Amino acid sequence: MSVAVCCRCGRATLAPVEVRYIERASGPGVTLYACPDCAPRLMPGPLPAETVPPTHG
Ligand SMILES: [Zn+2]
Repeated sequence: MSVAVCCRCGRATLAPVEVRYIERASGPGVTLYACPDCAPRLMPGPLPAETVPPTHG
């Protein structure tokens, strides 16, 4: 069992969810974790506001 600090609320969680991976040129990447409560809010998902097709004109 591993403990990770949620990148959103800053609290430690025993069930971290990997939400983002930041690549760094000078070394290994950094993985950000979130607690189960915050994960759905951080996960890139089909948000209604972002799925509207672009309009022209
Ligand atoms: Zn959290």
